[in-house]
Amino acid sequence: MTSKIPEAAYLIASLLFIIGLKRLSSPRTARSGNIAAAIGMGLALAGTFILPGMGNFVWILLAIVIGTVPGWLLAKRVKMTAMPQMVSLFNGMGGACALFISLGEELKWLQQLNGGLGGFGFSRREALAHSFPMLLGIVLGGISFTGSLVAFGKLQGLVSEKPLRWPLQKPVNVLVVLGILATAASSAALANHYEPALTWIIVLTVLALVIGVLQVLPIGGADMPVVISVLNSCTGSAAAVTGFAMQNMSMIIAGTLVGAAGSLLTLLMCKAMNRSLLKVIFGSFGGGAQGQAAAGASDKTQREIAAPECAVMMGYARKVIIIPGYGLAVAQAQHMVHELDELLEKRGVEVKYAIHPVAGRMPGHMNVLLAEADVPYPKLLDMDEINPEFEQADVAIIIGANDVVNPAARTDPGSPIYGMPVLNADKAKNIIVIKRGRGTGFAGIENDLFFNPKTRMLFGDAKKALQELCAEVKGL
Ligand code: NAP
Repeated sequence: MTSKIPEAAYLIASLLFIIGLKRLSSPRTARSGNIAAAIGMGLALAGTFILPGMGNFVWILLAIVIGTVPGWLLAKRVKMTAMPQMVSLFNGMGGACALFISLGEELKWLQQLNGGLGGFGFSRREALAHSFPMLLGIVLGGISFTGSLVAFGKLQGLVSEKPLRWPLQKPVNVLVVLGILATAASSAALANHYEPALTWIIVLTVLALVIGVLQVLPIGGADMPVVISVLNSCTGSAAAVTGFAMQNMSMIIAGTLVGAAGSLLTLLMCKAMNRSLLKVIFGSFGGGAQGQAAAGASDKTQREIAAPECAVMMGYARKVIIIPGYGLAVAQAQHMVHELDELLEKRGVEVKYAIHPVAGRMPGHMNVLLAEADVPYPKLLDMDEINPEFEQADVAIIIGANDVVNPAARTDPGSPIYGMPVLNADKAKNIIVIKRGRGTGFAGIENDLFFNPKTRMLFGDAKKALQELCAEVKGL
């Protein structure tokens, strides 16, 4: 009977994980989804405590406290803009868990097989089949652990954000991957000989940790969100295979959910950026086309506008669409943009926000930022919903966005972002762009929209420019 209770707890926990994930897909239900998944995790933990043969409760509780206290404090204090590195750090911890559990299970298995723990007779084939999930858990967990730590270091500024390259990089990586395959095969083939098998497992673990570092170091800082998503799916898969090794249903289901969600998010981000996953992992953004685009644009002029004129344009408009981008997040201007929105609405102007799926530097960046400033969710419209509305907009105001409004993605087959779906800001009757200068965006390419006769540039830091705009709109 007692052995049925943990199984029931795992089943309910798994259902709660699925419900939680489903509810996380909308900002309206995300909070309750998070709570449902947390209750599921609590149930799974409680179920594990009453598994037959469990002991060492004091040590387990101590480990839980040591993990929970800093995790709780970090999560409470983290700034919204530091969220990507936080996710990366937590993901790395998940990878480390999968690595150590798989390692522990594999070593226990080896000891049993070789008689150390009252051994039993398995054929070599059966031993190989049994070792496979644990070896995979060691490799995936190790890659996820060190890869996520390097990603954390890059995003936190502890390691250079630039793509790091060195001679013979790719051949060395290929050699390490071949080494991983060879050591995994050797450790499984020698499973009946404890010490050689143990040696190969240690080498395998070290190589998995090394390839995590080598693979993430050459990736540029701005590609990190995609990399984190890949590593996230790697951690999920590691947990799922470890669940197979331990025959733990809850781990298999939770790991599969994380692995699948991470893979889908990776594919969606790559699609929204019009980048192949291979290019993100093995190459850096841009290239030759950047110079050409910039050179072509250098002889064109941008037309400036001052805050008072801009305020008049918006204050007497019927419909204004706000397009937030990475610069808004850098300037922390989310509260100011909400204030401008409220001032305009008081004057009877209809205001909507156009949210591009990869605006900013992490999935949902703009939604999170604007939610922090209490902008109502119904005003945030996805690209497909808002694009048909630009033609009726009197003003499209672009705040610190660049690539996500670049018409070259629709019109210039030579552009590195050609094919990426973009917001049709160029279809609005008037376009205002707030940015500090002539800096390019993440893709490093010029944007013809800034030279469009309908466009006016309001140069300056987004927060300062919005403060001036608010003051002017108040005085209308
Ligand atoms: P963007 O193309 O990176 O452009 C941001 C613009 O903001 C820059 O041109 C910059 O120009 C301006 N800016 C920077 N700081 C500012 C400040 N303090 N005040 C005002 N303006 C400021 O941004 P985006 O349009 O949001 O596009 C996001 C890009 O990131 C896309 O290419 C996307 O593919 C990529 N990406 C997104 C994700 C994701 O998950 N969201 C992940 C990876 C990559 P100045 O320097 O002239 O001010």
